[in-house]
Amino acid sequence: MRPLFPRKWPSVPDARPIQKDERCDVLVIGGGPAGSTIAALLAARGERVVLVEKDRHPRFHIGESLLPMNVPLFEELGVSEEIARIGMPKYGVEFISPWHNKSVSLDFADAWDKRFPYSFEVRRSEFDHILLKNASAKGASVVEGCRVNSVEFPDEGGVVAMGTGEGGEALRWQAKFLVDATGRDTLLANKLAMKQRNRRHNTAAVFGHFTGARRLPGKAAGNITIFWFDHGWFWFIPLADETTSIGAVCRPEFMKSRKSDVTTFLHSLIAMCPALVDRLAGATMTGPATATGNYSYQAERMTGRNFIMVGDAFSFVDPVFSTGVFLAMKGAFLGADAVTACLHRPREAKWALRRFESEVRQAIARISWYIYRVNRPAMRDLLMTERNVFRIQEAMLSLLSGDMSHESPIRFRLLLFKGIFYTKSFLLAQAARFSRLVGKPLLAGAEGD
Ligand SMILES: Cc1cc2nc3c(=O)[nH]c(=O)nc-3n(C[C@H](O)[C@H](O)[C@H](O)COP(=O)(O)OP(=O)(O)OC[C@H]3O[C@@H](n4cnc5c(N)ncnc54)[C@H](O)[C@@H]3O)c2cc1C
Repeated sequence: MRPLFPRKWPSVPDARPIQKDERCDVLVIGGGPAGSTIAALLAARGERVVLVEKDRHPRFHIGESLLPMNVPLFEELGVSEEIARIGMPKYGVEFISPWHNKSVSLDFADAWDKRFPYSFEVRRSEFDHILLKNASAKGASVVEGCRVNSVEFPDEGGVVAMGTGEGGEALRWQAKFLVDATGRDTLLANKLAMKQRNRRHNTAAVFGHFTGARRLPGKAAGNITIFWFDHGWFWFIPLADETTSIGAVCRPEFMKSRKSDVTTFLHSLIAMCPALVDRLAGATMTGPATATGNYSYQAERMTGRNFIMVGDAFSFVDPVFSTGVFLAMKGAFLGADAVTACLHRPREAKWALRRFESEVRQAIARISWYIYRVNRPAMRDLLMTERNVFRIQEAMLSLLSGDMSHESPIRFRLLLFKGIFYTKSFLLAQAARFSRLVGKPLLAGAEGD
């Protein structure tokens, strides 16, 4: 059995002379939302923090739609005004289903908890740059253009990491604690062979930017739209500068059937969704499309003797409800408290790490249940319902705003939602069986699960 806290970790032997050797309290690897957030919080508490990022910001990143519960996190970080300057206000979400022949618009203002009525759509290059500059302004030492290649946890304690700078120079950091925020590169999970792919819930995405797409009128212009179609779903994310981000998320096997280049393939998928074709009439693409596999995964562990993982470095789930950046930043807030306890209250360390891990795992599990079922007919029916029976819709809106807490008052309504989902799935399955028996097909997309 693999030991919980390996003493000697696998590392890349590096015989090059060290050109820079830096010591710090906390080494953060990765300058995305997770890394920049935790670096800012810990530096503001007086820790000597070094953040190492392999790229140079601003750089492109996918993941442009944020949740209302991101907003209080921006306030705590002191970046609200800057985010509001670059962001397109997002007051709700619209679902469009060809099987229901209508659209449903939900406003975050109608959620159970009315305190978070809006969020933003952002260009991640600008958004991530603001968070990175904030980490630096709070006192973290930010090193860009440097990739960390290896990490070791020596017997005498602490962490030693080796990296390579843009000019090929070898760099070394010695820290008391390590935060892995390397996103889907999953540095530690890979090195420790702890990455577990969720083979049942894989998707792949192809996406691009358009200009001239028709937005919703008035205040709803910045709302995200989710269009279902035969092979999955599309996102329609209006950004502040008239650009609209469009992406299709499908089963990886379907994506593999692609015979053309990625851009032509995206156009062929759009052609399968008349409601989206309508919104894109007269729109043009501003650059080539990109494809990516969204393999859902989770590392076996997210904490160890001198490390934690935050954001996608620990876990990734399909982006249908735009939860990635929120989970990364919320995890960073919770992680900062765990790191502080480890550094200054060693007797509490074990408990603090356990609490951090349990809160993050619970939040991911709570939202994943809905994400994994988003293409099921019963789930589509429920999301396309405009009625607020037993205040279930308010509860769902709070969940979609980012309320994934275990203690939330919405949890009983969400249980009710699940009960209705299972009942509906059962009834749809029976209806499908009956229609097969009598030889009369059900409407496409209305089969049971
Ligand atoms: C198709 C798709 C659509 C998505 N849409 C949304 C959405 O609408 N809304 C949403 O909230 N989320 C969305 N997401 C998810 C979102 O992109 C991520 O959850 C989010 O970026 C996670 O933040 P992070 O800081 O953990 O990782 P990242 O943002 O990936 O940051 C990791 C950073 O680490 C750096 N790094 C990696 N390895 C090293 C190394 N060895 N050394 C130094 N630096 C390193 C990288 O350069 C990167 O800057 C989407 C994801 C996909 C794939």
